[in-house]
Amino acid sequence: MARKPLVAGNWKMNKTTIEATFLLQELAYACEKRYEDMDVVVCPPFTNLRSARVVFDSDKSGIKIGAQDVFWEDEGAYTGAISPLMLKELGCSYCIVGHSERREFFGETDEMVNAKARALIRHGIAPIICCGETLETRDAGETESFVTAQVRAALTEITADEAQKAVIAYEPIWAIGTGHTPTPEMAEETCAAIRLELTELYGTATAQEMRILYGGSMKPSNVKHFEPLPNIDGGLIGGASLVAADFIDLLKAFD
Ligand code: PEP
Repeated sequence: MARKPLVAGNWKMNKTTIEATFLLQELAYACEKRYEDMDVVVCPPFTNLRSARVVFDSDKSGIKIGAQDVFWEDEGAYTGAISPLMLKELGCSYCIVGHSERREFFGETDEMVNAKARALIRHGIAPIICCGETLETRDAGETESFVTAQVRAALTEITADEAQKAVIAYEPIWAIGTGHTPTPEMAEETCAAIRLELTELYGTATAQEMRILYGGSMKPSNVKHFEPLPNIDGGLIGGASLVAADFIDLLKAFD
């Protein structure tokens, strides 16, 4: 089963409006083609989503936009929160949930990740569900059980039909922003375990359709180690998505 690759840039909390507009235009300009056989997503901060929509609507690249987080209610007294309805109105087709930085700095639990994923699916936005282990968990030999438990929890009460829209991003915490990456064998082993978990949850057909991304210090110089792996269908890119030329090189690698 050939899955459509997906490459998503997670800008995190970077770029003022002026800086973002510049990077978005650089990306739109440098994108030499419209990516029909691959989904390309840029996830800037909330404050830059509208600029992103305007820039990508008016060019040929076909780049989609995504958010980095969401709250699970549609509206109400939730000061500071952004709802899936608001993201939909801005044209977001993807939204990252459960990033390790949200889990670490904002106390996001598996239950919250699940509530966010369900709310997004209800509104037709594909959740990019992040999972990944610490170095201590890996050293204890518990990576697979830890990561698959995160995936199972995030997909609670999500049906096979709904799950097809979801994307899993395997991001070892010790690889995020550190320059360290797992060996291809380690990355493939964990992503294969995730696919097995998806098979147990939803059966082979759905599990074979769902996309699993690798994330963690991926850049043009190391993408060749990950791109050919059978259970890796693209990348979630942090630092390298802030440099237009690097992000474009990563797109080319998965195209
Ligand atoms: C991320 O935070 O999702 C990520 C993959 O970051 P980086 O590429 O900078 O390691």
